[in-house]
Amino acid sequence: MIPAQFDYARPGSIDEAVSALSAAGEDAKVLAGGQSLIPVLRLRLAYPSTVVDLGRVPELRGVRDDGDAIVIGAMTTHHEVLNDPLVREHAPLIAQATHTVADPQVRHRGTFGGALAHADPAGDLGAVALALGAEFVANGPGGERRIPAQDFFVDYLTTALSGDEILTAVRVPKLGDGWSSHYEKFNRVAQAWSIVAVAALVRRSNGSIAEARIGLTNMGSTPLRASAVEQALAGADASAQAVGAAAEHAAEGTSAPSDLNGKADYREHLARVLTRRALLAAGGI
Ligand SMILES: Cc1cc2nc3c(=O)[nH]c(=O)nc-3n(C[C@H](O)[C@H](O)[C@H](O)COP(=O)(O)OP(=O)(O)OC[C@H]3O[C@@H](n4cnc5c(N)ncnc54)[C@H](O)[C@@H]3O)c2cc1C
Repeated sequence: MIPAQFDYARPGSIDEAVSALSAAGEDAKVLAGGQSLIPVLRLRLAYPSTVVDLGRVPELRGVRDDGDAIVIGAMTTHHEVLNDPLVREHAPLIAQATHTVADPQVRHRGTFGGALAHADPAGDLGAVALALGAEFVANGPGGERRIPAQDFFVDYLTTALSGDEILTAVRVPKLGDGWSSHYEKFNRVAQAWSIVAVAALVRRSNGSIAEARIGLTNMGSTPLRASAVEQALAGADASAQAVGAAAEHAAEGTSAPSDLNGKADYREHLARVLTRRALLAAGGI
C-alpha cells in the first residue's frame, strides 16, 4: 500500500527538530530508523500531516561517557549500540538484549531511541532500561527534561513524551562493582519478537544475593519490574534453591496478554522459568 500524503521536514539540529515538530502541530510524527513507523504509514494505520526525519541530526547519534553514566544518543542504531565499547563495558545487558533484536538488516536501520519511544511491550529494550534504572532525556519547546524509566512507559505504545517532544538520549548508570547481568528471551523462531523475556541484574556479596533487579518483557502493556522476586531475593542465599523459590513470584502483579503466540497463563509460566534462568546465569549460580 502507499502511505497517505504528508509534509516532510529534515532538521539538522535538536533545536530545529523541536521547532519543526512544534510548527507542524498535533498530527506530526518523528521518523527515526523507520522500522516500525514506515510499515504503519504504509498500512495507513497512521497518517501524520508532517514527518520530521531525525536522520541528519548528528547530536543524536553515538555513545559518550558521562562520569557515573553512559549516554546513548536516541538515533544510535542497534548495530552501533551492540558494538560500542562503552556499552559493552558498562551496560553489557544492553548489548546482550540488543543482539536479540530482529535481524542484522533491522539492527542497521532501527535505533535505540526509536525502539524505546515506540514502546511496544514485546520490544526487548524497555525491560532492560527499567532494570538498569535508565533516565530518558527529552527536548521540547520548554527545553530539556529527564524522565526516569519507571515513569517513561505509560501504556501500550504510549510513553510520557508529549507530541512536541523528541527523545534525545538515554542515560544509563554504569554497573557498579559486584553487579552482573543476563537477558533471557523466549521467542518462537530466531530473530523474532519476545513472547516473554527477562532482564536480570544481580549483586552478590559473601555467598548471598545482596540485591537483584528484574525487568519483564511482554508481561503487560508496558515493561514491568518483578518486584516480588526482587524482595524475595534481597539477602537470600546465592543458591539454585533460593533463586528457584524467589522466581515463583515472577508473574505477581503482571497482566500478560493472550494472543496467537500464547495465552496469559502460559506467559506466566514462562516468566517464572525465564526469571529463574536469567537469575542463575546473571549470578553465576
Ligand atoms: C522484522 C522486524 C523485527 C523486529 N524484531 C524486534 C525484536 O525482536 N525486538 C525488538 O525490541 N524490536 C524489534 N523490532 C523493532 C525494532 O527494534 C525497531 O527498530 C524499533 O521498534 C523502532 O525503531 P526505529 O528507529 O526504526 O523507529 P521508527 O520506526 O522510526 O519510529 C518508531 C516510533 O517511535 C517514534 N520515535 C522514534 N524516534 C523518536 C525520538 N527520538 N523521539 C520521539 N519519538 C520517536 C516514532 O515517531 C514512531 O512512532 C523489529 C522490527 C522489525 C521490522
